[in-house]
Amino acid sequence: MVESITASRDAILLEDKYGAHNYHPLPVVLSKGEGVFLWDVEGKRYYDFLSAYSAVNQGHCHPRIIQALVDQAKQLTLTSRAFYNDKLGLAEKYICETFGYDKALFMNSGAEANETAIKLARKWGYLHKNIPDNEAVLVAVKKNFHGRTTTIISASTDPSSRKGFGPFMPGFEIVDYDNVDALEKALSNPNVCGLWIEPIQGEAGVYVPAEGYLKAAETLCKKYNVLLMMDEIQTGIARTGKWLASDHEGVKPDMLILGKALSGGVLPISVVLANDSIMLVIKPGEHGSTFGGNPLAAVVCMEALQVVKDEKLAENAERLGKIFRARMQDFMKRTDKITLVRGKGLLNAIVINDTPQSETAWNICMKFAENGLLAKPTHGNIIRLAPPLVITEEQLHECCDIIEKSVLAV
Ligand code: PLP
Repeated sequence: MVESITASRDAILLEDKYGAHNYHPLPVVLSKGEGVFLWDVEGKRYYDFLSAYSAVNQGHCHPRIIQALVDQAKQLTLTSRAFYNDKLGLAEKYICETFGYDKALFMNSGAEANETAIKLARKWGYLHKNIPDNEAVLVAVKKNFHGRTTTIISASTDPSSRKGFGPFMPGFEIVDYDNVDALEKALSNPNVCGLWIEPIQGEAGVYVPAEGYLKAAETLCKKYNVLLMMDEIQTGIARTGKWLASDHEGVKPDMLILGKALSGGVLPISVVLANDSIMLVIKPGEHGSTFGGNPLAAVVCMEALQVVKDEKLAENAERLGKIFRARMQDFMKRTDKITLVRGKGLLNAIVINDTPQSETAWNICMKFAENGLLAKPTHGNIIRLAPPLVITEEQLHECCDIIEKSVLAV
């Protein structure tokens, strides 16, 4: 029997004493979620403006997704891939048809899907581009965020991700984001097998590249026979107002990397999608995961994606994102505390008028919480604002009122 906690302070003390200190959470202890709302253990209700880093696009505890989870959990949860199961093939077909690829490879975390994409790109490079053994290069960009494994942080430019964790994996070249000339120079190296990139840099602070950059990247990848590996773990599944952020420029990556909202926040599910010429370079025994592609995840994933389609969440994100940015632009005329609002759909950020080292963004988030809204600074003075996509226009306006009131009060 699990003990229950009824006071925030107790939960915070427990985590502090028994948990690793690898996060710096806002001092709010949550115990319930429904749609756009979260409740703390004292019963206070908040609007969620983080959505678990965009994993909960469908809203907390979506009844259809939970029903699918419960039904399948009573039937079969895990077989490993040593055997077939009766749900994985259905999920593979569903996701391939949804996104237009030949094949899917399911994993669990976002980092694992990126690791999978790296292995696919390297092996493809050796088999199909004749790159000499162990000399494949992946091009990544400054301020990227793809996860926390030792290989992934080898391509990171964020000191807090890297310091103290070397030695690093070779085989990455890092170029400026949103710079076509730098990209072309890097991709022209014949040993480059892949360009690994986010269509909008979420963790870095919701950096949206100039229009045309992604299209230029796609064209350059074709020109130099390099795989375009698009990490849409945070931007995908309707978050930016289209199924994929790549869709805004009509770009079709060679490898599509998804995670987070694939389960609506219910289970860790991630996937890499690619066509046969890429996916079939991996042979039995060369890659896998005990939990990847389990029948519980397969069912949850299909239901979570179907909810996004049925509830037209991309359209909602597109429409409400415009309203949100218009409100913030208008607010900026009345305050000098915000210098910029940027984003696409319902993935947005406000930049606070202070140094990145200052506490202002944190203090504003504390004030948001006091006023019933949860968000978190990402990289110093930037606050990411990303509610579940099921939010209504009326709720969004109420949230904008809270944001404005809180910013003015700090
Ligand atoms: N890639 C992107 C773009 C992300 O935003 C994240 C997480 O924030 C990841 C990868 C890593 O995902 P996970 O934390 O599930 O490993």
